[in-house]
Amino acid sequence: MNAKVIDGNKIADAIKQEIKSELEKIKEKPVLVAVQVGENPASKVYIKNQKSSCEDIGIEYNLVQLDNSITEDALIAEIQKINRDEKVTGLILQMPLPAHINSRKVQMAISSQKDVEGVSPANLGKLLYSDVKPPVAPCTALSVMECIKSTGENIRGKEAVIVGHSEIVGKPVTLMLLSSLLESATPTVCHIATKNLASHTKRAEILIVAVGKAGLIKGNMIKEGAIVIDVGINRIQMKDEKGEPVIDEKTGKPKMKTVGDVVYEEAVNIAGYITPVPGGVGAVTTVMLLKNLLGLYKIQIGN
Ligand code: NAD
Repeated sequence: MNAKVIDGNKIADAIKQEIKSELEKIKEKPVLVAVQVGENPASKVYIKNQKSSCEDIGIEYNLVQLDNSITEDALIAEIQKINRDEKVTGLILQMPLPAHINSRKVQMAISSQKDVEGVSPANLGKLLYSDVKPPVAPCTALSVMECIKSTGENIRGKEAVIVGHSEIVGKPVTLMLLSSLLESATPTVCHIATKNLASHTKRAEILIVAVGKAGLIKGNMIKEGAIVIDVGINRIQMKDEKGEPVIDEKTGKPKMKTVGDVVYEEAVNIAGYITPVPGGVGAVTTVMLLKNLLGLYKIQIGN
């Protein structure tokens, strides 16, 4: 079998167009505020991408840059100030925070009305109800659901195996798969303590992997025809045909590449559908943040 590749960029473009046309009908631009504490090269790139994807579709993006030495109380006070600012639609807290700050405590200070990442207790709690659609939810979990939806396959009753039980992916995805009284899949959640992982993954008609370990899911762990959603993002060394590291002539260092948790070259011959890494789940995740922002905006204007 040769799997159909789920094109994350195509899905993202379509959703972006939907958001853009909704925003064109709105007089005042929604405002997204990003709070960053200290300097972090990785989040610098992330912030640059966030800013350009916001501005592309008519969302105002403001960065609040705070000093690395800020105390936890002072940071919480800043968050509360943004919570009260009526001009701000949503707030995103860039991670990681410095070691002297309790990230969970600060995250909990974000008002559920401004929680663009869908991680506040109130918004996560709403995922439990079948008859209440939360206005926002964790972006990566939403992206996984969009990738599954793009296949056009019915999830009703299907064996779904989720590998990884984090708060931003595995757990919310499980609730989302169970969100309908009649149309739900049948999820099994695997994690670090799961015994004989392959015995679970091999019976999955929908396999979602969010661990962060390159090569964890091999071809022989996948059921023929399965929908495989690879959330993992791992940087590994590129190897040549002999298995030796490929050296970058300019830097003299080994060349790196980004891969998921699934051995793509094997899985693509067995699965029915598969998300590539990069260009799969990650591409959709960014636009789900914008969709969440629009959801918050509609609530704030009473729509
Ligand atoms: P996490 O680090 O919070 O949790 C990892 C999970 O994997 C845990 O549930 C753990 O029990 C499980 N696990 C670890 N080793 C295992 C093993 N050998 N077998 C089975 N389960 C095992 O994870 P996270 O924050 O959800 O991130 C997971 C991966 O997804 C990372 O690679 C991350 O970079 C990536 N990610 C991608 C996106 C995206 O948009 N594509 C977004 C967020 C995270």
